[in-house]
Amino acid sequence: MNDNYDVVVIGGGAAGLSGAVALLRSRRSVLLVDAGEPRNAPAGHVHNFLTRDGTAPADLYAAGRKEVQAYGGQILQARVDNVSRDGELFVVALDQRTVTARRLLAATGSVDELPAIPGLAQRWGIDVLHCAYCHGWEVRDRRVGVLATGPMAAHHALLFRQLSSQVMLLGHTGPALEPAQRAELDALGIAVIPGRVVEVEADGSGLTAVLLEDGSRVELDALVVAPVCRARADLLVPLGLQPAEVRVGDFLLGTQIEADASGATAAEGVWVAGNVASVPAQVISSAAAGLAAGSAINNDLVTADAAGAARADSKHNAHGQDVWDQRYASMDRVWSGQPNAALVAEVAGLAPGRALDVGCGEGADAVWLARQGWDVTGLDVSGVALQRAALHAEQAGAQVQWVHADLLDASLAPSAFDLVSVQYAALPRTAGHDAERALLAAVAPGGLLLVVHHADIDPEAAKAHGFDPADFVYPADVAALLDVNWHIEVNETRPRDIAGGAGAHHTHDVVLRARRRD
Ligand SMILES: Cc1cc2nc3c(=O)[nH]c(=O)nc-3n(C[C@H](O)[C@H](O)[C@H](O)COP(=O)(O)OP(=O)(O)OC[C@H]3O[C@@H](n4cnc5c(N)ncnc54)[C@H](O)[C@@H]3O)c2cc1C
Repeated sequence: MNDNYDVVVIGGGAAGLSGAVALLRSRRSVLLVDAGEPRNAPAGHVHNFLTRDGTAPADLYAAGRKEVQAYGGQILQARVDNVSRDGELFVVALDQRTVTARRLLAATGSVDELPAIPGLAQRWGIDVLHCAYCHGWEVRDRRVGVLATGPMAAHHALLFRQLSSQVMLLGHTGPALEPAQRAELDALGIAVIPGRVVEVEADGSGLTAVLLEDGSRVELDALVVAPVCRARADLLVPLGLQPAEVRVGDFLLGTQIEADASGATAAEGVWVAGNVASVPAQVISSAAAGLAAGSAINNDLVTADAAGAARADSKHNAHGQDVWDQRYASMDRVWSGQPNAALVAEVAGLAPGRALDVGCGEGADAVWLARQGWDVTGLDVSGVALQRAALHAEQAGAQVQWVHADLLDASLAPSAFDLVSVQYAALPRTAGHDAERALLAAVAPGGLLLVVHHADIDPEAAKAHGFDPADFVYPADVAALLDVNWHIEVNETRPRDIAGGAGAHHTHDVVLRARRRD
């Protein structure tokens, strides 16, 4: 498992699985976290899902998980405990760890609040039913009682009358019928049975009857109820999303998180799909909503990444060759001419191999490394700096190969260097962490990556000199990408002492030394 994802999908029912597949097919990194309690788990079969009619819910979701994994998605059976924001990222807390995500898809479904009648919950999803489309066909021509708890009961009775001529409306706590409703029920032979239902009876073969408060029994094969379908949305409340009530008159049908047609909510970066966003959603419509949300999230990320790339590109140009050439040309010497103390401290005494000095400038580090026996490549974007570096090497009798290129354009052979040293280099930061990845890619198995930068940059002072520290890569950015293939040997802030040259006013360094495992 990684620590950072493009998208964390919470919930692995039809909505979450379908959203995850859409994202993965757009090459997004996705973690799907599922607590394994889909709403229709008590039912034996899924109906009204084209081509999958009669599939057991568990089989449908297992097939969905297989598809997610086939596209490289990661699935974690766990419960997300908490979600919060950290800058532009979401921090998702699950079990004993946290991961971050750029976007969230909440497909957490809903919980059915059933009428509190003894014996009813035990039959839920089997022969206590809620939906003519999910299970009406299965009880065709059977004795069906519709439990009235709200104004939709008479309509529910009509829906089931389409499937069976033996439908009864149980008055229970429902409102009094309008004369026109009563006339329709009478005309269709739907008996209206007054009285509160106090118990649901069943035997080994299934539901058999309901017991009324006057002691009478009504024999039935199925009971239809209208649960209150509440969005599982507690997680989203800290992000500013409160479920809205869905009512018919005074009667509460359920709650849902409000969202647009793509599932985008009022909380930036948070999408919802399925029952959490729609009380009447069914399995196939939840899957469709997951697809809509997944593609909308990918659209959003594509747009953000393109804008970020353009910003990075303009910064890159603003800190490119011309700028550095001008800076070097404006002085006889920019840097101290001495190797950086952090390089000497970390590398002196190591068995020499192939070394890459990224942003080698006037070459003091590269020359020092060469004199220690390293086979050195010095890379810099400034030709003016490299001319000086070559002269320095010649005077010192050191052999160095000089590469005049930007790190990202340098076409370095992968895994080619036993040491990659980056001393105070101004590497532009990009959304895709291109510079950091290029550094990691250059290190040979068993090799060292040494990234050193100033620990005490004052952003305001830096901006006054025309550069924003937020635009550049720092050791922490590199450290964030180090996975199990790396061992961090040093990651610390330490004082530094330097005699002269640009940057001599900085008093502390951040030093990251990481070794790539063999
Ligand atoms: C008894 C019954 C039978 C039904 N039969 C049918 C039918 O035949 N056909 C049909 O079309 N519809 C049917 N439905 C409706 C159908 O179940 C829902 O519409 C559908 O399940 C909604 O899909 P979903 O992905 O939104 O949510 P769900 O399928 O409920 O999935 C949500 C998932 O999110 C997980 N989750 C929630 N919170 C967290 C968290 N914090 N961390 C991690 N995971 C979390 C849950 O554990 C769950 O696995 C039926 C419903 C019921 C109650």
